[in-house]
Amino acid sequence: MIKSWFLRRIVLLIAATILLSALFTTILFVVAARSIVAEMVATDLVPRAEYFSNLMTRYLEGTMPKDVLKTMVSDATVLGANIHVCDAQGGYYFEATSPETESGSDGAEDYVKLLAASIVSVVKGNRIVSQVHSSTTGRDYLVVGMPIAQDDKIVGAVLLTKPLMDLSGTVTTLNNSLFVSMLIAFAVMLIPAYLAARRMIRPINQMRGVALHMARGDYSVRADETRKGEVGELALAFNYLATQLSATISSLVVERNRLKNTLDGLNEGIVAVDHTGSITHTNPSVLRLFGHNAAAQITEREQLIPDESVWKDFDFAIQERCPMVRSLSQGSIVLRVSISPLEDENGTVVGAVGLFRDVTESERLEQMQRDYVANVSHELRTPVAGVRGLAEALHDGIVRSEQDKQRYYGYILRESLRLSRLIDDLLELSRLQAGTVAVRCSSVDVGALLREVGEKYRNMVEEVGLEFRLDIDSAACPRAWSNADRIEQVLVILLDNAVKYSESGCVRVSAEWDDERIYVSVEDEGVGIRKEDLAHLFDRFYKSDKAHAGGGTGLGLSIAREVLNKLGETIKAESEEGKGSKFTFTLLREDAHDRDA
Ligand code: ADP
Repeated sequence: MIKSWFLRRIVLLIAATILLSALFTTILFVVAARSIVAEMVATDLVPRAEYFSNLMTRYLEGTMPKDVLKTMVSDATVLGANIHVCDAQGGYYFEATSPETESGSDGAEDYVKLLAASIVSVVKGNRIVSQVHSSTTGRDYLVVGMPIAQDDKIVGAVLLTKPLMDLSGTVTTLNNSLFVSMLIAFAVMLIPAYLAARRMIRPINQMRGVALHMARGDYSVRADETRKGEVGELALAFNYLATQLSATISSLVVERNRLKNTLDGLNEGIVAVDHTGSITHTNPSVLRLFGHNAAAQITEREQLIPDESVWKDFDFAIQERCPMVRSLSQGSIVLRVSISPLEDENGTVVGAVGLFRDVTESERLEQMQRDYVANVSHELRTPVAGVRGLAEALHDGIVRSEQDKQRYYGYILRESLRLSRLIDDLLELSRLQAGTVAVRCSSVDVGALLREVGEKYRNMVEEVGLEFRLDIDSAACPRAWSNADRIEQVLVILLDNAVKYSESGCVRVSAEWDDERIYVSVEDEGVGIRKEDLAHLFDRFYKSDKAHAGGGTGLGLSIAREVLNKLGETIKAESEEGKGSKFTFTLLREDAHDRDA
């Protein structure tokens, strides 16, 4: 059995064509054979009919005896033909039937009717050759008619009839031979037809192979274009299609990779889902945000983001075609999630995409800003309220004595100074943090600077009953690459604090150094700082000892740290509650700076 549908069809078509042509040839042959054989029979019978016509003429003239005529006529029937002789009125002289025709006398009646038209035509002087059909016997007969003439007058007719059935044996034999030869031709032609058909479909099969390769993504294969005709043209068109397809797919792949790289490179997490809500794309950021390996392939929704409410929002965005924005806490991280439905060019929702942004830092900054405003308001309100209360008392005349008035003026002055100091500190800090303050570095003689500032402070320290020590070997102390004014600013803050938070003991300024940096310390033996406060000491408005910090703004150490940050230096605090504190900041040595430069 031939497996290929196409090949089977072609072979069947060829076989049908051969069979049909054989059938038509046979039919044509049968039709043609009958008329040819009838013509041959007529050719045989016409001279005989002429001969019998002459015999009858001689008989009627009396030159031939009747029995001789009869003998001659009966001899003629041996030829397989019937002889009918009649006079001009259609009356029979006689007739003789051939034993082969099997018509017999029972057919005589029939013959009279059958031949009547032929007799009429012949007695008019026509020679006829025609076929008649007998409904009695169901046969066709060839009729040859010849007039009998006497003295230039038609006196009768001779009709020879021969059943054409006798010819069908010959025709059938011929037909059979023809049929057998057709069958042989059919059998012989079948193999070349099969081979030719197979050859025809080979390039089609090859193209099918090429198409399958292309379907698997291999566009390097090509169909055979060397064939002639339509198959070659089809191969040419096929190869053109492959080239175009390959180019289109290549550019699509480039575009897709570019998009994928862009999405993968985003800091924001991306999750795309199809219209059923199944995950179609994730980028490394979203995997990292939810604690997965950045290269992991996660397609399960709950495995990627365990919080079911996020997926409900995705489903809602798809169903309602409505963008959603929400927050999500993931451990210590705060995420802002924006989910948007995706539509195709027909406006049908084909899925949704979610953008996961880590807003922890901006939330923290916002919180800091809120705290800052609250702190500033709080810090400003206290002195302003104080000044207002005192001024009101003076204004309303409640304070009468000059001594009390002076005391009130003193309070107002002190609160105003505190207020202006607070505002100065705030401005300074905001300038430092905004980066609008340019800090220029130059060579600084640290030993001399510390001595100078220390000496300025000595009186003030000693005035409040504290001891002041300056432990610096000015000659040996290396120079720093820094800004003298800014170092003094930091020193003043630290010395102010040391005095402010000490009731007794010693305030000591010292300096040590290594190859890289100088370490300047301001120590006191004051109230000290609790361990839990140490970490927050440098935060804005932080006051560890609220009782003692009545006059402080909580901004001094923040300013010190910002200044040192600007200089590229650090500051640290060590303290033991009740025993004292030590603040140490670094300064880059000038020689280390030169080395690095
Ligand atoms: P303040 O103007 O309140 O002194 P600072 O920023 O300078 O603001 O200091 C912040 C807080 O750190 C102070 O309120 C105080 O509680 C604590 N502090 C600073 N220096 C010392 C110190 N030398 N001894 C004890 N506590 C200190």
